[in-house]
Amino acid sequence: MALQRMGIVKNYEDIRKFTVVIVGVGGVGSVTAEMLTRCGIGKVILKEMPNSEHSLTYIYGFQLILFDYDKVELANMNRLFYQPAQAGLSKVTAASMTLTRINPDVKIETYNTNITLTTQFEEFLRVLQTGGISGNRVDLVLSCVDNYEARMTINTACNELALEWFESGVSENAVCGHIQYIVPGESACFACAPPLVVASEIDEKTLKKDGVCAASLPTTMGVVAGLLVQNTLKKLLHFGTISWYLGYNALADFFPSMMIKPNPNCTDSFCLKRQEEFKNRVIEEPVCKNEE
Ligand code: ATP
Ligand code: ZN
Repeated sequence: MALQRMGIVKNYEDIRKFTVVIVGVGGVGSVTAEMLTRCGIGKVILKEMPNSEHSLTYIYGFQLILFDYDKVELANMNRLFYQPAQAGLSKVTAASMTLTRINPDVKIETYNTNITLTTQFEEFLRVLQTGGISGNRVDLVLSCVDNYEARMTINTACNELALEWFESGVSENAVCGHIQYIVPGESACFACAPPLVVASEIDEKTLKKDGVCAASLPTTMGVVAGLLVQNTLKKLLHFGTISWYLGYNALADFFPSMMIKPNPNCTDSFCLKRQEEFKNRVIEEPVCKNEE
């Protein structure tokens, strides 16, 4: 693996040990899923357990779990990834078919559900907790949804499970985007610093005018998906520096970057718990940046 030979990544093969959940396989999520599928290319490795009477066999393979409640529509064809012939299929089914053709070694699991519904939230939590390769928790959640309620649902679940996740978004005018790395307790969660509209108690649905739909550009969505997957690889394979918050302004080619600290008055009780745990961890094991 060239990335290894060039000293960028210590062990690229580790990619096959991970399970990544993508919530929302629309404009950003579907491209994210395709990039990760192509990164996970390689044969499934069967490993015999040495020194074991029962010679257990472990199967390593990169695993993607997709959630989305929507169907592919012809109107969405200015986005990348989906094809006109897939119109009418659920997005997760269409995505799974294409991704499996690209790389049959990647295991794809799909949920055609709305994660914000109470009944389906339980299933969402269970998948995050047990969806890993050996029944363990998943390694990372990527939010590629387009609304506040779904982002808050992912936030609630990840705070409860102390699971790291990336939030992503593209603005309604299609020329701005961002990604945000959320480590419960260490960086601001989605409830710590809610978007301005929500903080001002304006109902998100009232902002949408009838007959006027949001603009979208495959370019901006492609850039945001690229930033998201690049930072996902850095996190999973331990190379480079992960951006806490990275914005993209297409009009000026400006990429603002910053760290947002958790809010000690956050409304999510699990966030406050994680903040306490993080403070105690820092006291117990102070991190010396130069030794990392
Ligand atoms: P548009 O919304 O403009 O038609 P799109 O369908 O491509 O475009 P995006 O904004 O690009 O949507 O992607 C967001 C994706 O997140 C959509 O596929 C949507 O179905 C999915 N999504 C949003 N909320 C939820 C939810 N609560 N549960 C599951 N999937 C969700
Ligand atoms: Zn918070």
